[in-house]
Amino acid sequence: MVFLPENFISQAVKAFPSSGIGKFFDIKTIKPEAISLSLGEPDFVTPAALREAAVRSLAEGKTAYTSSAGVPDLREAIAAYMEERFGVPYNPKEEIVVTVGGSEAIDITMRAIINPQDEIIIPEPCFVSYKPCAALAGAKVVTVPTSMETGFKVTAEELEKYLTPKTKALFINFPSNPTGVIMSREDLLPIADFVKKHDLLIISDEIYAELTYDSEHCSIASLPGMKERTIVISGVSKAFAMTGWRIGYICAHSAVIRAILKIHQYVVMCAPMIGQYAALEGLKNGGGEVALMAAEYKRRRDYVVPRLRAMGLPICEPGGAFYAFPCIKETGLS
Ligand code: PMP
Repeated sequence: MVFLPENFISQAVKAFPSSGIGKFFDIKTIKPEAISLSLGEPDFVTPAALREAAVRSLAEGKTAYTSSAGVPDLREAIAAYMEERFGVPYNPKEEIVVTVGGSEAIDITMRAIINPQDEIIIPEPCFVSYKPCAALAGAKVVTVPTSMETGFKVTAEELEKYLTPKTKALFINFPSNPTGVIMSREDLLPIADFVKKHDLLIISDEIYAELTYDSEHCSIASLPGMKERTIVISGVSKAFAMTGWRIGYICAHSAVIRAILKIHQYVVMCAPMIGQYAALEGLKNGGGEVALMAAEYKRRRDYVVPRLRAMGLPICEPGGAFYAFPCIKETGLS
């Protein structure tokens, strides 16, 4: 028999394209003068105090597995942070799990909640991994387009049109990758009502919460009756310039966390220990560094956005994250 490897690859994997980001890496290899604007990657090095905390943890011989849910001190620091910054109290013993980046958090959250053919509503444009992770978990992905006209915000009215008896969850991400748009408390209140009215879960990727510029980030979990219905996905990659350390986290109802933890234990066992100690230092003492980096991103946004507009490229003002998403229709490009 001739061996045809493609016959052995799962249909689900074949069904979605590889991440387009890889193509940009290839271009950059061939053309060193090219500047890649494609990746959500802070250009700062992780602050020195955090790197030192990691070195200290190594010197102390902290090189083993940690508790699967994450180092207890780190979970406590995450709980304190979530309460202080966003007014949502979580029990560090049963409502938080530390993951291998926000990426693993997205994957195992989907797998923990989805039954075959459950529908999950995902507004677009969105971060690259949401749709493949949902599809791999067996969900039917229902995308809701948003546009410049509505400021790339999703509305309850629009969501109603995509609702079916099989809808299980809504996935949102603010500040958004790739639009940089944020949703205020007033914008989120009707979304929360929609979720409660239809007995849905909401997965809220808030990994850019610290990079919110002219207002305070509002977590949808902080709205009345929403904490138990919300799975917050976050992490230290963006706020603390720690993409390479691979530390994220999930905050949710204890029953949801128990389900997520089952998968996490089988798949990765735990997040890397040194990364957890660096993240702990960041959450405890790194606020000043975050503010400095956020101020620099804001300065760049204030530089880039008017210039894109002056070039004839309309753009919704990014309220957070570090993305500028101009409309290029005028250029004739797709
Ligand atoms: N969510 C969003 C919206 C992101 O932009 C990214 C990274 N670009 C992630 C999650 C994944 O983050 P991490 O590096 O912590 O896996």
